[in-house]
Amino acid sequence: MIVQRVELDQFRNYARFEGEFDPGINVIYGENAQGKTNLLEAVAYLSTASSHRARYDRELIGFDADHARIRAGVFSRDRDFQLEVRLGRGVRRQLYANGVRLKSAAELSGILNTVLFCPEDLHLIREGAAVRRRFLDECICQLRPRYAEALAEYRRVYEHKTRILRDWEEHPSLLDTLEEFNLRMAQTGAVLIHYRAYFIKRLSETAPLIHQDFSGGREELELGYETVRTVTDPLASVRTILEQLLEHQRTHRKAELEARQCLSGPHKDDLTVQLNGMNAKSFASQGQTRTAALSLKLASRELFQRDTGEWPVLLLDDVLSELDQRRQEFVLQRINGGQVFITCCEETGLDTLQRGRTFHIHGGALVPEE
Ligand code: ATP
Ligand code: MG
Repeated sequence: MIVQRVELDQFRNYARFEGEFDPGINVIYGENAQGKTNLLEAVAYLSTASSHRARYDRELIGFDADHARIRAGVFSRDRDFQLEVRLGRGVRRQLYANGVRLKSAAELSGILNTVLFCPEDLHLIREGAAVRRRFLDECICQLRPRYAEALAEYRRVYEHKTRILRDWEEHPSLLDTLEEFNLRMAQTGAVLIHYRAYFIKRLSETAPLIHQDFSGGREELELGYETVRTVTDPLASVRTILEQLLEHQRTHRKAELEARQCLSGPHKDDLTVQLNGMNAKSFASQGQTRTAALSLKLASRELFQRDTGEWPVLLLDDVLSELDQRRQEFVLQRINGGQVFITCCEETGLDTLQRGRTFHIHGGALVPEE
């Protein structure tokens, strides 16, 4: 998959931007706060219809503007796509592919796949389970539209049920609809768990090999799927998972009403990471943490390729500078094939790269080449 052209209007600090990109490596350099991450964020938004760092879409609109637009020409699945996102303050965002308005973000799934790696991802190992769930969601949503639909539905139902559990004492009539939301949550939850289980299974066949190469054979990475005591075997059928989720809800009804929280479901899942048999979250060193996080990201990139037959676009935001020489070299030789965007502050230091194009960004604009 190749992003051939990107146009931005009033997107973050870009008033207007137009860039044509190389199908190989694109180096985007510039000083701090000039718009490098914003550009990668725009590209990533076209693949997942969400930003890795903005909680609300309105954050993406230029401070002085009412609306923003991202447009891109993408070559994927042997044909050209024109993707467009229109964002406005106080209105629903609109997504288009080849001029046709999409009904949901799930319809974007599979047109442009991206794997973004940024300094925050180095926390993938250390931080709480939410970061790892997000990683899983970002990957599987791109590969399986059905997952993206189920996730959107699950989030809606979860919010609704949470409201019931929070307010039922003040408004007891809310309890009349609890059963219905329990059922819908278990149904969509079972779909999510099913997809996650298979994705983690495949990830755990790939990431440990990369990690082993990375660590010179010294470290063994092991991945697992934890579903907080509700589901005994996540690889079981959707029907079996559904029954177990419903059973947990039945036996924990009182506990949920008291806790005022949804106590079971995929919003509690974790992707567990072990290094040499020990929980990486608690015991891995700084360097091991980096290596493990990179292995997960590179593994997901390879899974995308195996799944779709095409390399996803790799977005490396400021991560090379964070890595020591040995890790840098490892990453650079591992990312052969596919389109890559690399941001950095200095143009120098990437001389080992077989470059495609270099872009200098300053103040939300391209600095013309001399
Ligand atoms: P660094 O090297 O420090 O990571 P960067 O080039 O990646 O810098 P960006 O994160 O892309 O910088 O941000 C560039 C600028 O965009 C920042 O000064 C930021 O304040 C600004 N910015 C962020 N959101 C908006 C917005 N909605 N409207 C206008 N400007 C914004
Ligand atoms: Mg940045």
